[in-house]
Amino acid sequence: MSTPAGHSCSKRFSDYPCCHRQWRHRGHCRFVHGYSRSFTCWFRAHHLDAHGFVVDFSSLRDLEQRLAEQFDHTFLVNADDPLLEQWRSLHEQGALDLRVMTNVGMEASAELVWGWANELLRARDHGRSCCWRVEARENEKNAATFTRTPGWFGSGAPSSRLPDEPPAMEDLNDADLNDVAAIPEIWPAP
Ligand SMILES: [Zn+2]
Repeated sequence: MSTPAGHSCSKRFSDYPCCHRQWRHRGHCRFVHGYSRSFTCWFRAHHLDAHGFVVDFSSLRDLEQRLAEQFDHTFLVNADDPLLEQWRSLHEQGALDLRVMTNVGMEASAELVWGWANELLRARDHGRSCCWRVEARENEKNAATFTRTPGWFGSGAPSSRLPDEPPAMEDLNDADLNDVAAIPEIWPAP
C-alpha cells in the first residue's frame, strides 16, 4: 500500500462522570466537584492499514476500557492530597471509587491518555500509527490539549516497509520508551 501523506483521524470518547478536587487551589476548585469528562484522540499513520484506516476504531476497546476504569464514576485526587488517608478510608467503606493521580487536572489527564493510546498503538501496530494529540474536556467551555508525536514514530514513512510489518530493531531503541513511560501513578493499580 502506498504512503498517503496527510491522513489522520480522530476518535472521541465521551460520558465519563467523575469528580475531583485541586486541594492547593485558593478558589472553589479545592472543593470536590465533578464533570462528565470526554477525550478526543488524534491519530496519524505512516501508511493506511489493509482496510484503508489510519486506526481501526473497533480496535480501541482496550483504551476505552482503560478510560472507563479511570474516569467512570470515580473520584480523582492528587497523590499529595493531605486528606488522602480519609479518601482511602471512604473508598474502603464503599462511599467512593478512588483513583490517585499525579495531577487530576485536564492537562495531566490529556497527557495520561496520550500515553495509554500510544502504548496500545505501538504494541499493536509496531510503529505504523501513533496518537499525536489528546484533548481532555470537562465541559462545553473548558478543555486542555496535550500534543506530542512519540519519538519512536519518526517523521518520515519507512517506504520499503510493508503494511503491518514489525519495525526493525533499531527503530525501537530504549530512549524512545521514555515517551510512553511517563505515566502518572494510579491507585488502585488497574
Ligand atoms: Zn475546578
